[in-house]
Amino acid sequence: MEIYLDNAATTKPCKASLDAVVETMTTNYGNPSSLHKKGLDAYLQVSKARLAVATALGCDTDEVVFTSCATESSNTALKSVAKKYGRRKKKIIASAVEHSSVKNVLKYLEENGYEVIYIKPKNGKYEASDFINAADDNTFLVTCMMVNNETGYLFPVKEIFKGIKRLHPDVICHCDAVQGFMKLPFTVENIGCDLLSISAHKVYAPKGSGVLYIKKGIKIHPLLLGGGQEKGVRSGTESVPMISGFGAAVKFLRPKVEDNFIKYRHLKKILLENLEETDYISINSDENCVPYIINITVSGVRSEIMLHFLETKEIYVSSGSACSKGKDSGVLENFGLSGDAADSALRISLSYQTTDSDILALCDAIKQGHEQILKK
Ligand code: PLP
Repeated sequence: MEIYLDNAATTKPCKASLDAVVETMTTNYGNPSSLHKKGLDAYLQVSKARLAVATALGCDTDEVVFTSCATESSNTALKSVAKKYGRRKKKIIASAVEHSSVKNVLKYLEENGYEVIYIKPKNGKYEASDFINAADDNTFLVTCMMVNNETGYLFPVKEIFKGIKRLHPDVICHCDAVQGFMKLPFTVENIGCDLLSISAHKVYAPKGSGVLYIKKGIKIHPLLLGGGQEKGVRSGTESVPMISGFGAAVKFLRPKVEDNFIKYRHLKKILLENLEETDYISINSDENCVPYIINITVSGVRSEIMLHFLETKEIYVSSGSACSKGKDSGVLENFGLSGDAADSALRISLSYQTTDSDILALCDAIKQGHEQILKK
């Protein structure tokens, strides 16, 4: 039986989500903007999902904008803020280990006259003061992810955003919460952000839907112009099935967040106990990291080789350094790994369905893989 441990890349949709998608496609297939009953029914499906997400984020429903993915959410957020709030002030502060959906927008903004200060971890660790001290009167935007997708590093986003706002109340704070949503208990008010990006396919819903939380009063410049759906922030007919699936998955997961977290901690403990006994495996996700994303290095075996060995056993993990077209993201090096250690890194990411025996099978397979690959 297959063992899927690549849940930071994407998740298998849960039954509640699939049921909602099918029902929406077969029954509530109208256009939410149509004036007749079919339109209203579809509109109500979107409203139901909006309420589920808003409740989970602790915000009002009119602060939730559906997009196609978190990449779109972050693009809209960052480009908007630059356009609306970056006329006189030019400085942006960001962590140096953001996902490419943020990093590449920052690169674009740099090419268009903005200055980006990238905050690097010191000895593998971030302090909120690293961000707060970097902000000055020329700063208009801070963006920091909640959980790093490669190592599971948990950022002190609340301390960062609240600390910055205390000294510079006009600075806009954006959070990429893709790897934290529905896994960590937080609300937007609690972390003090103005904008927040999340994605459906990381929380057991299908690909094709995301959300941008926009705090009341924040001005947005839409990426897409058209029919003015989503209060003019995101034109284009709403993907009612995907949005319904997103809402259903959130409703399904929300009561389980705390129990799942306890389970992830237990699973990580088993994994570490099993792997730490070897002298060729090192753990790159320390106590500052969430328990459901675990990055390890299997010395002497390149990530892809081990990944494909595990694949032969129907165990699916990802290479530890998110490569795009052969180019390393550099995240692991930022966290202090050598190039060799990063080349041999694997990312194991858990789901609420992962069992103790899945983890034991993975540990056995990695040890077996190490022996067999090095023999060749
Ligand atoms: N941000 C983080 C931290 C991610 O891990 C990902 C996906 O891997 C994204 C953003 C992009 O999400 P989406 O696929 O919905 O665009």
